[in-house]
Amino acid sequence: MSPRDANPIFGNQPTTIFTVMSALANQHNAINLGQGFPDEDGPKAIREVAARAFIEGPNQYPQMLGIAPLRKAIAAHAKKFYGLAFDPDTEVVVTSGATEALACCMFGLAGHGDEAIIVEPAYDCYRPILEAAGAKVRAVRLQPPDWRLDEGALTAAFSAKTKLLVINTPLNPIGRVFSRSELEIVASLAKRHDSFVVCDEVYEHLVFDGREHVPLISLPGMRERCVRVGSAGKIFSLTGWKVGWIEGPSRLIGAISKAHQFLSFTTPPGLQLGVAYGLEKEMEFTLSLTRELQGKRDALATGLARVGFDVLPCEGTYFLTASIRNITNETDRVFSERLTREAGVTPIPLSAFFGPDGPTHLVRFAFCKKRGVIDDVVKRLETHFGKQ
Ligand code: PMP
Ligand code: GLN
Repeated sequence: MSPRDANPIFGNQPTTIFTVMSALANQHNAINLGQGFPDEDGPKAIREVAARAFIEGPNQYPQMLGIAPLRKAIAAHAKKFYGLAFDPDTEVVVTSGATEALACCMFGLAGHGDEAIIVEPAYDCYRPILEAAGAKVRAVRLQPPDWRLDEGALTAAFSAKTKLLVINTPLNPIGRVFSRSELEIVASLAKRHDSFVVCDEVYEHLVFDGREHVPLISLPGMRERCVRVGSAGKIFSLTGWKVGWIEGPSRLIGAISKAHQFLSFTTPPGLQLGVAYGLEKEMEFTLSLTRELQGKRDALATGLARVGFDVLPCEGTYFLTASIRNITNETDRVFSERLTREAGVTPIPLSAFFGPDGPTHLVRFAFCKKRGVIDDVVKRLETHFGKQ
């Protein structure tokens, strides 16, 4: 007798492109600018607070919503940077990474018969989680090189069944930071169709060239229909910690925390104490990280352009995208694998962020690496492309 199939929504998914490209980079000893993680850990003082907690406690289940000092620190962070007021007792929930936060929001807000809109290129977990929640996913595709949100395309994607929209700004992988006027289009459609918006803002502090990150929830009429997702992994260069959070109106946080109680229930208390300390005392780290990243973005962009890539603008995140059409007719995937093997540099093919028929001429490089590593990448590419 043959065994039954697993749930195809997950079972039919490929292994994530981040895992695949990291494995290939290791196999070929390539510099891994694929999976987005910094090569220097964030503040030692944060890690010391967590380390002490692991030895001295607490080590038993913390509160389901997250420890009170962290919920207070998360609310204070939103107040300090955006003037947003959240009640730490009813409007904040701590999760095991932004990934769990997104899953909680999607399971908590969308269900069978609902439609959900995502904006492509889209982070890879949105579609499968929404589908597992039972929602029908509609994708609105942005167009390079300016990747602006098009009012007509977005309007056409909405229907009476649109329960929620997922908006990621600053946007992984293309580094767009949506302007206030683009966000106003989203706000007006969400209000008109009475839809929720899940705001993935994990790169909120990584905005360059004096740009401003505008949380959609701060726009008029959006406070009651948005939930805002953050990640300590991104803010403090501690991506393996997987501490995230959701802020929003108590009515939605109440429903979402019911999903959280069955997905992870809670998050290691030592890590929560470390992040609470960081949000109170170490934000200067994040602000200077952004300044350093801007310089690294520029160094990598110059190097890529010199060897023939057509580099696209990058307004935020730690990802730079480039077209390979001046270099090759290969697909982004074939090219990324070959560059790993032959040049010792690993990017991510952008097609992984699109449904079928997405563009196949773009690749993404993560520049959250030491300056020397960026310089080595440029040297390797110059040697490979023969332009020294
Ligand atoms: N959203 C986006 C856009 C991301 O790039 C990432 C992670 N890299 C996440 C969510 C997940 O964050 P976390 O690692 O905190 O789960
Ligand atoms: N968010 C990271 C990236 O875009 C990857 C995280 C993961 O490996 N799942 O590179």
